[in-house]
Amino acid sequence: MAVHESQEPGAFSGTDYQAIIGSLPDALLVLAQNGTIVLVNAAAEHLFGYSRQELVGRDHRGILAEGYRQGFQRLFKVLGRDQESGHSSPFEAYGVRKDGTEFRGEIACALLDTAAGLCMSVSVRAMHHRQEPDDGLREAMSLLSATLESTADGILVVGTDGQIAGVNEQFVSMWGIPRELLATHDDEAVISYVLGLLEDPQGFLDKVHELYSHPLAESNDVLKFIDGRTFERYSRPQKVADKVVGRVWSFRDVTPRLAAQDQAKRAMADLAEQAAQLKALAFQDPLTGLANRKLFNDQLAEALRGDRAISVDVLLLDLDDFKEVNDILGHHAGDEMLTEVARRLRSCVRPDDTVARLGGDEFVVLLTASPEPDAVAERIVASLNVPMWIDRTMLRPSLSLGLASVGSDTVAGSELLRQADVAMYAAKAAGKNRYMRFEPDMMTALVQRTDMDAGLRTAVDGGQIFVHYQPVISPRHGEVVQFEALARWKRDGELIPPGQFIPTAERSGLISAIGLQVLRHSFTELQPWLAADATRSVAVNVSGVQLKECKFADSVLQLAASCGADPRQLVLEVTESVFFDPDAHVILQLDLLRDAGVRVALDDFGTGYSSLGRLQDLPVDAVKIDRSFVSMVRTGAEKLPILNSMINMAHSLGLTVTAEGIETTAQATYLTNLDCDSLQGYLFSHPEPESGLELALLRSADAIDEMRGVRLEG
Ligand code: C2E
Ligand code: MG
Ligand code: MG
Repeated sequence: MAVHESQEPGAFSGTDYQAIIGSLPDALLVLAQNGTIVLVNAAAEHLFGYSRQELVGRDHRGILAEGYRQGFQRLFKVLGRDQESGHSSPFEAYGVRKDGTEFRGEIACALLDTAAGLCMSVSVRAMHHRQEPDDGLREAMSLLSATLESTADGILVVGTDGQIAGVNEQFVSMWGIPRELLATHDDEAVISYVLGLLEDPQGFLDKVHELYSHPLAESNDVLKFIDGRTFERYSRPQKVADKVVGRVWSFRDVTPRLAAQDQAKRAMADLAEQAAQLKALAFQDPLTGLANRKLFNDQLAEALRGDRAISVDVLLLDLDDFKEVNDILGHHAGDEMLTEVARRLRSCVRPDDTVARLGGDEFVVLLTASPEPDAVAERIVASLNVPMWIDRTMLRPSLSLGLASVGSDTVAGSELLRQADVAMYAAKAAGKNRYMRFEPDMMTALVQRTDMDAGLRTAVDGGQIFVHYQPVISPRHGEVVQFEALARWKRDGELIPPGQFIPTAERSGLISAIGLQVLRHSFTELQPWLAADATRSVAVNVSGVQLKECKFADSVLQLAASCGADPRQLVLEVTESVFFDPDAHVILQLDLLRDAGVRVALDDFGTGYSSLGRLQDLPVDAVKIDRSFVSMVRTGAEKLPILNSMINMAHSLGLTVTAEGIETTAQATYLTNLDCDSLQGYLFSHPEPESGLELALLRSADAIDEMRGVRLEG
């Protein structure tokens, strides 16, 4: 042995080396870098059951069991990096014999730098003696591998050296890592591929680094992918006998689960929104967005349930003459007006006060603990009077408002509303465009009104309808040329003015009978006066309800004939509103009457919503300028172009003009100077019964004289 030891190794020949290798008890294989077997010894032939010819030139993976085939490729890299040692520590792996049987072997490798290039020598020692326990281990391994492959999670195992120790199929397909890339075992390339998929690659790396500096830590987080997917990432250390040998990463694609959760969340939110909308609609007036009746009632009930020391006020309001806006300008304009009114109402109250639309043009405001309900009511009336432009038409809306309040006494909501309603009715009766606070005696008035309907019926049948006549004078002729017949109801000795009973009569239809009675009275009572001069006439008011009757014209003409009156001495006064309905029947009735010589006058001219320009389309012969215009004349020195335009316009259309409500000489003179054809008013005479006709004529003559005197003096 001493000889052998002292002998120079270089003394062996190449054949000696071959013999030595051939005699090695362990199998020896040399692999080229591409994995091809380039050299084997006899022990290798024996161990694997292949001949040398069969082994050399073959890929080494063919003689390795599944699960171990990538190992050597990786070793090339690892050993290449670790230039110093260049060999691996022994490890265990399974080989496959030619007959397909597998065996367990202990393997050691070393890099060889040969003239033909970098190779790796691999020595394999079969471990038959540990066959028994190995079977159990293999079974466990195969169970583990089957489990890993069947799980839905992608699993990656990385050694403490940072090398990928294993992945399952799911990992590869979840991450979409190309097989060629994995086969290179170039971990850096794999990592950079992975990072390219992520929304936050830096966050990913930070987490990895953090965990490597805390090898025992476990972590659970979420990865967001650029393509919209989301993975849950779970990581825990891989230990062998309490020693951390690597880290297991498992990934679960939670994109579908999150999408489903998202969808469910969205559906819930949609549902909640729809429910809120439905709820809002159930309590909202769709046109104006204000509260509706239901919500108002709820709020009122709640306010009344609350602290008795807190005041509750209800302001019920109704637009004046809203029907005219709708009829003349159309429903679209009507809607716009209601919307604007709603906006103004809101701006008059505090945000917490309730403003509701009860329907049509009826609104209601609920104030709780308001220090100044009367001021609010006043503000509302004033705010509505500010003109508004709708469809290039200027409108000046107005409203009648009833205010009812409850303080310390207990009142039901319905009672409070009724009181506000009664007050509103009173505001309308008092001339509209105002607010009135509820007073208990208004209730009495209400009772009287309901009682009026029945009373009026008896009045018509029982001859309680009388007529008073008011003279109309011609400044040009200096005499009375017409009497206007004005209905009066004598009830229990008291004279009730037409403003109080005509609306009731119109509603009940009694107006037709009343109208005919007024006509009959007029024809008979004025007969002598009319007969004395064919140019004299009587003017009788007619309401729209009468004109809608199919035989209206006939019955008027028949009555005139039966009274021996000349239709040419009859003037029928109608208001603009009778023309609002596009009812051809009304026009037909008026045409029939005009054909028979009856003249038609447009009463209260200027108060409606239609323009002066509309006048030329109406079947009328005369206009009566409303007294609200006449009352603008105070001293007689003012400039009022509106009166001038009205008269000129009417004259240019061939219509005659009467000015109503002349109370002063100044007004009479002013209108005479504007070439107004006739004048009517208290200046000349109040309306008088038949017995007062003479007196009316005398008073009128006096007033005419006085007027002339002023004119002469002027
Ligand atoms: P109207 O046709 O415009 O009648 C003029 C009204 O003004 C009358 O009121 C008259 O008394 C009043 N008046 C006359 N001169 C003056 C004045 O100088 N100053 C003031 N402040 N007022 C004056 P009245 O009699 O109360 O009639 C009111 C309205 O009732 C009438 O307005 C008319 O529209 C209606 N009416 C009267 N009689 C009848 C009728 O037989 N049938 C119909 N359908 N309506 C009638
Ligand atoms: Mg009249
Ligand atoms: Mg009038």
